[in-house]
Amino acid sequence: MIRPTPAIEAIPATTPFIGPEQLMRETGLHELVRLGANESAFGPSPKAIAAMRAELERLSWYGDPESLDLRDVLAERHGCRPDQIVVGAGIDDLMGLAVRAFVGPGGRALTTRGSYPTLNYHVIGYGGTLVFATYRDDGSLDLDALLALTRSEKPSLVYLANPDNPSGTFLDRSELSSFYEALPEDALLLLDEAYADFVDGGALLPKIFDDRLIRLRTFSKAYGLAGARIGYALMTERNVQTFQKIRLHYGINRNAQVGALASLHDDAFRDAVVAETAEAREEYYALARELGRGFIPSQTNFVCIDMGTAERATAVMNELLRRGVWIRKPGAAPLDRYVRVSAGTRAMRDAFANALRVVLTEVPA
Ligand SMILES: *Cc1c(COP(=O)(O)O)cnc(C)c1O
Repeated sequence: MIRPTPAIEAIPATTPFIGPEQLMRETGLHELVRLGANESAFGPSPKAIAAMRAELERLSWYGDPESLDLRDVLAERHGCRPDQIVVGAGIDDLMGLAVRAFVGPGGRALTTRGSYPTLNYHVIGYGGTLVFATYRDDGSLDLDALLALTRSEKPSLVYLANPDNPSGTFLDRSELSSFYEALPEDALLLLDEAYADFVDGGALLPKIFDDRLIRLRTFSKAYGLAGARIGYALMTERNVQTFQKIRLHYGINRNAQVGALASLHDDAFRDAVVAETAEAREEYYALARELGRGFIPSQTNFVCIDMGTAERATAVMNELLRRGVWIRKPGAAPLDRYVRVSAGTRAMRDAFANALRVVLTEVPA
């Protein structure tokens, strides 16, 4: 009999994300207002599209395994050396490499229950163990709890996203700096900055290159290249050398390399996306107020709206789906009473607002 390794066999079958395509197959809907995965409704930059279109004819060639053109421009942006950057097929890919390299079989990783689930998926898949902190009731990360657990449980890797998903909350520079400084010397902070483009650069953790810190960035959100699968990590040269040992050298789509590079030459487009995203957030806040619902102020491209209970949040999400509006909700207390909706275009926002107004009159409180 053919069997996977005992470690893999012991993993319960889970699907971390059920995609909108699958939901459409299941519901028989032919169209969905796609507001569930914090993708960009504003598309890639026209410059990126033009560059990728032109590159199509060269797809019979592998991309540059070093992604050097892209790393050169990124290095300039971040005031670092190209040797301090690893390009990957999105943050999800880079996260897997970090877990494989720094947690591994029998290792421990600390995260917050209900936070971005891909980390957990990798930790379990590589035979590690998860330790969880809990969100504060206002949706913020509990840095005191994370610190205490780091000391008592001694994880080799501590994960947090800033701005955070699914809460949308943000730790400012001084809070996060003090946290980072207080971490034990042998704990690596895996800092997921998927939404960094939506906040003022000066509010982020300052530029630090130390073996204890790996920062993850992506072209999936503000740059609208989620389907291209490309992101990067900022880290010390020493950590880059570790990643070099295990990363897939032809793992980056050639088209994605070109699209990402062209995106970096279109700041005006990104700024317009960030501005419209801020408008969308304000509209969602106003909608929540109109409907007498609380919300968590967000620094991302999504907003969590309070439905009172986890049961009601689930019912609202399902009812919206029946009406062709796809959103998601946080999976764990205390945030599971919220639904999470991504910033969409004007038409998508209106479709969500109209559907929510109706659904809330129908789903019992
Ligand atoms: C969207 C998201 C990611 C995924 O990024 P990719 O580059 O598309 O893999 C990672 N982390 C967080 C917190 C996200 O919200």
